[in-house]
Amino acid sequence: MKSYKAKMVEPIELPSREEREAALERAGYNAFNLDARDVYIDLLTDSGTGTMSAEQWAAMIRGDEAYAGSESFARLAESVRDVMGFEHVVPTHQGRGAENVLYGVLLEDGDVVPNNSHFDTTRAHVVNQGAEPVDCPSPAARDPNSTETFKGNFDIDAGYALVEEVGADAIPVVALTITNNSVAGQPVSMANIRATAEFARDIDAMFVIDACRFAENAHFIKTHEAGYENHSVAEIARAQFEHADAITMSGKKDALVNIGGFAAMRDETVFEHAKQRAILYEGFPTYGGLSGRDIEAMAVGLREAVTPPYVTDRVEQVAELGDLLVEAGVPVYQPTGGHAVYLDAGEVFPHIPKEEFPGQELVCALYLEGGVRGVELGGFAFPGTDRPDLVRLALPRRTYSREHLEHVAETAAKVMASAGEYGGLEIVAEPPMKELRHFSSRLEPVSN
Ligand SMILES: *Cc1c(COP(=O)(O)O)cnc(C)c1O
Repeated sequence: MKSYKAKMVEPIELPSREEREAALERAGYNAFNLDARDVYIDLLTDSGTGTMSAEQWAAMIRGDEAYAGSESFARLAESVRDVMGFEHVVPTHQGRGAENVLYGVLLEDGDVVPNNSHFDTTRAHVVNQGAEPVDCPSPAARDPNSTETFKGNFDIDAGYALVEEVGADAIPVVALTITNNSVAGQPVSMANIRATAEFARDIDAMFVIDACRFAENAHFIKTHEAGYENHSVAEIARAQFEHADAITMSGKKDALVNIGGFAAMRDETVFEHAKQRAILYEGFPTYGGLSGRDIEAMAVGLREAVTPPYVTDRVEQVAELGDLLVEAGVPVYQPTGGHAVYLDAGEVFPHIPKEEFPGQELVCALYLEGGVRGVELGGFAFPGTDRPDLVRLALPRRTYSREHLEHVAETAAKVMASAGEYGGLEIVAEPPMKELRHFSSRLEPVSN
């Protein structure tokens, strides 16, 4: 049963089939180009798209908009201390701002950064400092049918193999992303967090956690890792950070806000340098590119994320969508992760070759059949890789109801039933930077 009810509503409407066809054509068969008003169920991302609580809205009224020394910042710092255990906090406009601030301080030209898997903005910020990002995902991550629980883990052997190759001196930072967004939102076990921390210590590197979905990860540890069943989510959430030197955080995920982020750290010197860099790129270090009211909402949201039954509701709703899709006969990446369900478009459209983007075709088909918007995370978004053609359906937090999820499953079932009628797509216009092509390219059905 849901532990909340709606206090404010936003109308949504399913446009007619003809309107959806016209909208998709206008959008160049790219869901990023659709107007949100033309979308019925929007599962493009869970980033900043959730519903805030009455307490968060109430706190916003209290926002202290002082340029320096805002009380709202003091309340955020207290939340970060209580919930995550870090003494020093630098607020930023969102997660990538925290990455810019922290990695700008820690990295130099020629450095190498291992991570279970870099999220795309993390990868870009590591590269932007002249360093090389290297992914070390668990081998289990590659098998979409293995039901192993902690498929988001860092492969410690791969980490040591990298040390052999480039030398420990080239690795100033070992990073760990919890949950592992780039690997279908799969969680990381506490044992693996500890092992990664030991690996970092062993090679004298700083251990940085990308904490975006720290509460969802804590939920998986509580429900699946031996020895944690009697610990609270809040205790586990904090324990995850015990061995970390610093974190980057997007408030748009597990701080339950629409905008905001921060970096937090233990070392005084890193803190001082990070504040200087924040002034340059984000704003004075007690507001970091945010209004006082944004910071208030984040201070409250961080605490709500680890207060039962929020995160249980959250992860169970994602699993519920996964179950409905499996019942409808749709191929789903197993097990479902913390924030999204991933569909295997290669299996839905076995007749569409990889070069004709079966994943992007599935995104278009879901929109055409039921006004559902997902996102392709396969050969279209990651050119030149051999990634499986997955389509992500990410659930905004505290937003949709079971009826909406049923509509999504029915829509996917309709696509499955007429799968043979769908052909592939080709790119007709793309931006200069290939890595960013999925955001703005225009495509057309190949038969045209
Ligand atoms: C969203 C995200 C980021 C970046 O955060 P933004 O708020 O979008 O800038 C970094 N890492 C992970 C794992 C994320 O999911």
